[in-house]
Amino acid sequence: LPEQEAFDIEYWLLEEAKLQRMPKPKSLAGRVALVTGGAGGIGSATAERMLKEGACVVLADIDGKAAADVAAGMAKVFGRDVVRSLQMNVTDEAQVIAAYAETAVEFGGVDILVSNAGIASSAPVEETSLALWNKNMDILSTGYFLVSREAFKVLRAQGIGGSVIFVASKNGLAASPNASAYCTAKAAEIHLARCLALEGAEAGIRVNVVNPDAVLRGSRIWSGEWLDQRASTYKTDKEGLEEMYRNRSMLKRSVYPEDIAEGVYFFASDLSAKSTGNILNVDAGNVQAFTR
Ligand code: NAD
Repeated sequence: LPEQEAFDIEYWLLEEAKLQRMPKPKSLAGRVALVTGGAGGIGSATAERMLKEGACVVLADIDGKAAADVAAGMAKVFGRDVVRSLQMNVTDEAQVIAAYAETAVEFGGVDILVSNAGIASSAPVEETSLALWNKNMDILSTGYFLVSREAFKVLRAQGIGGSVIFVASKNGLAASPNASAYCTAKAAEIHLARCLALEGAEAGIRVNVVNPDAVLRGSRIWSGEWLDQRASTYKTDKEGLEEMYRNRSMLKRSVYPEDIAEGVYFFASDLSAKSTGNILNVDAGNVQAFTR
C-alpha cells in the first residue's frame, strides 16, 4: 500500500477502536416511565429493567409503603434522582389524575405508561358474587382505562408520542377454569389496548400488550386467595402448580418477572417503533400449545 493509504487505514482502525470503547447511550435515557403496581413482582422487575436503560421511573401502587420500600432499594443502585414512588389506587380517578401531576412535578412529564396494577380473584361462575365480578372489572378493566386515559392526555399535550404497555394475561385470550371474572376483565384490557392503539397512532402514541403466563415466583398474587383458589381447582400445591404450568408450555420452562420485564422493555423502547396494537405472549409457548 502507498504510505499515505496505510497511514489512513491505521488511523481509521484506531478511531473505530476508540468508538467501540465509548459507553453506548442508554436506550431510554431522558424518558420517564410511570409503572402501576410498581411494588409488585412484575412491576418492580419492569421498573428495574427500564432504570438500567436510563429511564426515570415512578412506582405507583395502592400499597404506598411497599412502593416506597422498593423505590428506596432501587435508589441505592441507580441513584436518588431517577426513582420515585407514590400511593395511587387505579380505581380512584382523583388519585390517578394527581399521580400524573406529581410525576410532572418530579420529572417534567411522562413518556411511558406501564399499566400493570392488578389482582387475581375468581370463583366458579355460580359462586361469583356481583361484588367479586365488579372488583375484577374495577381494578383491571376500569383501572387500565383510567390510567391510560390520563396518559393519553399528557402524551398528546407533550406532542412527542409515547408508549403505553398493558400487562394483561394469557387468560385474556384463553379460558381458565373457575376464573370467568378475571379472564373477562383481562380480555377487556386487551381489547382496550387495540382501540387505544388506533386512537393514538396519529399522535405517535403506541399501545401494546404483554401477556404473562403464570408467574408464581416473585408475585404477591400467588401467596393468598388466588393461590388457594388455583390449588383447589387443580388439586395441587404451589410447587405442583408451577410444574403444571411448566409442563404445559412448549419450552417446558417457567416464566419469571424478569422475563415479562424484557417484553415490556421491548415495547417501551424504540426497538418496537413500528409496533402498535400488538400482543406479546411471554408464556414459554403455553397459549398456542394443545397440551392441556
Ligand atoms: P403482584 O401482586 O406482585 O403485583 C401487583 C401490584 O398491584 C401489587 O403491588 C398491588 O399492591 C398493586 N395493586 C393491586 N390493586 C391495585 C390498585 N387498585 N391500585 C394500584 N395498585 C394496585 O402481582 P404481579 O404478578 O406482579 O401482577 C402484575 C400484573 O400481571 C397484574 O395485572 C396481573 O393480573 C398480571 N398477571 C400476573 C400473572 C402472574 O401469574 N403473576 C399472570 C398473568 C398476568
